[in-house]
Amino acid sequence: METISALRVFLIESPIKMARQQGVGDVKGTVKRVLVELTSSSGIVGWGEAAPWEVFTGTAEAAFAAIDVYLRPLVIGAPVDRIRALGLKMKKALVGHGEAKLAIETAMFDILGKSCGLSIADLLGGRVRDTIPLSFSIADPSFEADMERMKEMVPNGHRLFKVKTGVKSHRDDLRHLEAIRNAFGDAVDLRLDYNQALEPFGAIAILRDVDRFRPTFIEQPVPRECLAAMASFAADLDTPILADESCFDARDLMEIVRLQAADAISVKLMKVGGLFNAQALMAIADLAHVPGYGGTLWEGGVALAAGTQFIAATPGVSLGCEFYMPHHVLTEDVLEAKIENRNGEVVVPDGPGLGVIVSQASLRENARILCER
Ligand SMILES: [Mg+2]
Repeated sequence: METISALRVFLIESPIKMARQQGVGDVKGTVKRVLVELTSSSGIVGWGEAAPWEVFTGTAEAAFAAIDVYLRPLVIGAPVDRIRALGLKMKKALVGHGEAKLAIETAMFDILGKSCGLSIADLLGGRVRDTIPLSFSIADPSFEADMERMKEMVPNGHRLFKVKTGVKSHRDDLRHLEAIRNAFGDAVDLRLDYNQALEPFGAIAILRDVDRFRPTFIEQPVPRECLAAMASFAADLDTPILADESCFDARDLMEIVRLQAADAISVKLMKVGGLFNAQALMAIADLAHVPGYGGTLWEGGVALAAGTQFIAATPGVSLGCEFYMPHHVLTEDVLEAKIENRNGEVVVPDGPGLGVIVSQASLRENARILCER
């Protein structure tokens, strides 16, 4: 029986091109991530990535230690076709650390796919879409720099833009939204993300102001735990409310559905901690008629390949994705070739497993390895 014979784990750091100001954890310079390389007894290599963000889900250093110390003994010797069984063992052996478990699960799927010539989307039931609309986040401290980017992107077919509101003053937000609608009209599909910036006290007046710019959704206006306020906004506003920080996993979604606290959710593999977990989350969302949006943290090419495969096979994630980092933010990535973006959409890659190639050369040339075991 084919089993996992080797595990290597890398803590890496990648430089980013542009500053990102999003209200929490402003990012400048570099981002840290963890990569896992599993090798099967017949020599098939699979990759996975854990990309936590310290202000959101946890630290890359903790994910590295979780894999190196606690998950390694469970993974070595695991049959390559028993991914769910390995997931149950990891759940029993280690609390939390969803990103670390996701990285292992992704590498297992990559190996299983490569062993039988199927993509991860195929293994999850097959594709329901071949491309995914791509959203770019307007989060540069310089709004003018973002406007220049939009002027280049819109003529190339890019439609979805998510403005990080609540970082600057409300007056600035209104001015920026007006400038975007004046410049591009309805050619752009505008979404707003407050990243929990508002307090429930007084929030409704602010949200009514931005409502007039006809955003497709308003993401996470208030702190994670303020579900009653989220429910009142969802009831009072025409614009749908999308839960991001309020919805990490299926349990969170059950509560959101019960309270009608959101009209849509942001699904992030790093929040939910696995591809199976993400599909379980979307099963509940589908029943409640709550569409999903493919969110991301500071993920690199391997994690976004997993996200792309997941969305390709999951009908309910119908609001597009924000997998723009490799093309627009990270200066380099560890993939031999980036996943293609065309006409403002992410093209689901053909090819087995993740559908991407990572080599030792592409890893060592394109990332700074801080620690390797
Ligand atoms: Mg968000």
